[in-house]
Amino acid sequence: MTTEPDAEARRRIEEIGARPWRQRIGDELRTGRGPTLPITDPTNDTVLAAPATADAEDVREAVERAAAGAAAWGRTTPRERAAAVRAFADVLERHAEELAWLDTIDAGLPLWMMRIDAATGVERMRMFADLAHSLVGHTIPASAGNLHLTFPEPFGVVARIIPFNHPFMFASSKLAAPLVAGNAVVLKPSELTPLSALRMGELADGILPPGVFSVVHGGPETGEALVRHPAVSRIAFTGSHQVGRAIQRSGADAGIKHVSLELGGKNAMLVFPDADLDRAVPAAVKGMNFAFAGQSCGSTSRVLVHESLAEEFTERFVRAVDALRIGRPWDEGVQIGPMVSRRQQERALGFIERAVAAGAEVLSGGGRGPGDGCFVQPTVLGGVAPDSEVAREEVFGPVVSLLRFRDEEEALRIANDVEYGLTGSVWTRDLDRALRVSRALEAGYVWVNDTSTHFPGVPFGGWKLSGIGREESVDELLSYTQLRAINVVAA
Ligand code: NAD
Repeated sequence: MTTEPDAEARRRIEEIGARPWRQRIGDELRTGRGPTLPITDPTNDTVLAAPATADAEDVREAVERAAAGAAAWGRTTPRERAAAVRAFADVLERHAEELAWLDTIDAGLPLWMMRIDAATGVERMRMFADLAHSLVGHTIPASAGNLHLTFPEPFGVVARIIPFNHPFMFASSKLAAPLVAGNAVVLKPSELTPLSALRMGELADGILPPGVFSVVHGGPETGEALVRHPAVSRIAFTGSHQVGRAIQRSGADAGIKHVSLELGGKNAMLVFPDADLDRAVPAAVKGMNFAFAGQSCGSTSRVLVHESLAEEFTERFVRAVDALRIGRPWDEGVQIGPMVSRRQQERALGFIERAVAAGAEVLSGGGRGPGDGCFVQPTVLGGVAPDSEVAREEVFGPVVSLLRFRDEEEALRIANDVEYGLTGSVWTRDLDRALRVSRALEAGYVWVNDTSTHFPGVPFGGWKLSGIGREESVDELLSYTQLRAINVVAA
């Protein structure tokens, strides 16, 4: 494989290098005052751009302007806010191709997939605009003759910290609910993939009122400064449990903060003897989210197959994974691109090496490449022991572990014997078993005879180490409000 990009990719890569990458601080677009951080092209690990980061002063200013903006924004009606969010969604939709390309180049994710992500981000923004009418309070008959009312009120400033794996889709969709609920948002994208979010900051110009949307660029220090600012009372984080814990700790040090956490997963797909393998095998491939090089929190990275089907399933699954086309993310027909960075690549390869040392067998892939970019071949591991590292820890790479079980009890024991609890997938044509097993799984989001699909409006979120809170639904919208009760006593 050559790492020489085609003409369009080359043009866009040059543009990225030549542009000033500015942050949105309140409604001002300007270069950060902190040190620069290189953003790399994962197909060859070369530097694309080195935007300046936000220093503590930039963060402070973004939060203070957000607090000022939130005061007026929170007094508008949900309908007015929904209209502004819709207008922003329209602008982003008009720039969807540009935003998809930024993510493809910056994160190494296939262009066709980033086009879907761009459309999903815009669709979810519109979903939250449509849900604006759900911001209602109650009247409560708590005492005779008086009036008892509740109001869902915004918090003020929301810090929104996101990871690298869906750069634009998360930046856009996770902005909508706090805005519709009446808050101002300071968004911090991943330092690895900030470009589409920085571009969103520019595109918001003249669309959203002053102060309500800022984008700051930087790594842990920038995130930490945001979390610790006294005017930030609501923090919404998507990322690893290690950072989630750090945020809970620094949030608690700095004050009493409402924190929601969307964290990692080590998700199990359970294939029972009556499963339809014609559907289950492609679903296991889809469930692993190879289009994201496995860098997806909901990936079904443990496939537990009943011993009666294990051989046939393994043979068909390995054939399907062997056939995946790996390459540059902008090339036609590519199904899996590089991982986001050299560090993530080495991390995934380390998991494979240790799994083999612990007795697992590489049935497909297992190595780096093609070329010297941050590629890891889609990898299937067989003979994985349920208590081994690769069966219990999140790889966040294109590595699937195959395990066998004898009966339902053993399947559930293995599936639940991890610290995570994000998703699960149950394959059976027996409705009793489907419901029994779904409800016995320690996971926040379960599919029966499906994997990977997210349905707008259905709450997504984790149990155990996978997080706190629910998103993608009315629950997310309401989580950006705090209740005020007013008691009117008859005079
Ligand atoms: P990460 O936790 O390393 O980083 C996430 C974000 O936190 C980045 O923006 C980073 O700069 C910021 N950050 C780092 N240290 C910080 C600190 N001390 N204070 C404040 N912010 C800080 O995660 P990642 O490597 O970008 O993403 C991978 C992880 O995200 C995986 O564990 C994956 O499962 C998880 N994830 C979860 C979901 C979900 O919906 N549950 C979705 C996508 C990804």
